[in-house]
Amino acid sequence: MSQSIKETCPSCQGRVTLVDLEKQAQVKGVDVTYTARIHQCGECGLELASIDEAATMQERLADAYRQAVGLLGSEEICRLRQEKGLSQQALADALDIGIASIKRWESGVIQSKSMDALLRTLLQKNPCNEHTGNREFSIPRIRLVLDAFAAQLGRPLLKKDDRMLYAAKYLWYADMSACRDLGRSMTGSTYAALPMGPQLNNYRDLVDEISNADLTDVPPLSQTETAIIALVARTFPTNKQVFDASHREALWQGCPTGAIIPYTRAAELIEIPHLKDLP
Ligand SMILES: [Zn+2]
Repeated sequence: MSQSIKETCPSCQGRVTLVDLEKQAQVKGVDVTYTARIHQCGECGLELASIDEAATMQERLADAYRQAVGLLGSEEICRLRQEKGLSQQALADALDIGIASIKRWESGVIQSKSMDALLRTLLQKNPCNEHTGNREFSIPRIRLVLDAFAAQLGRPLLKKDDRMLYAAKYLWYADMSACRDLGRSMTGSTYAALPMGPQLNNYRDLVDEISNADLTDVPPLSQTETAIIALVARTFPTNKQVFDASHREALWQGCPTGAIIPYTRAAELIEIPHLKDLP
């Protein structure tokens, strides 16, 4: 028995014991039932919850509501997140929110319907939609990723009249790894399987736009995205390495020439280790 609860009822001096009580309540206008494990007087029925018991009650109440309206529960969010190998910080980064929200949801605070939908998309087994990897296509983001690669590699990736032979492969590895490890690509780019390797779809039309991209309103790269870019850059310091590696990927080999390389198969990537497998 926790120290804050006396064994004798303060009201009738009856005996107080730990019981499971079926409770009914209303949350946001929805009737829910849940089981509360609290202390109760066996004589007069007075309920005496310790601070911990009250907190657990709140969690169960929130989870009962979430179940009633079809939202992910606290433990479900935590379990799915761990199955994906994501830290709370990595999941927060993928959602563009603070880590405090993840901590709250995993301890009973109810997430919004729109956040629940995002969580489900990110945490389900086969997360990324085929062509854009769960992100709206963003040319400024391509530029951000290429700039981050340039900083890591210590050399520019995009030159004047670039055909993106190498830049597209670094991008491809960043997008595919992010989709596999974080449930969301970095740039929303679509890639085609060309004889020279994975290539940004319609790259000819995009090179100038990428070079001239306006970066004022673009969401910055998260810490985890930057970590993936650093990992890709470390793995492939030279253009030849990234070129050769992309040709060893079954993900590219298995696609007919000209076909879109699906993000849904990002798990088949072999040359870049999964974030969760890094020391
Ligand atoms: Zn009593």
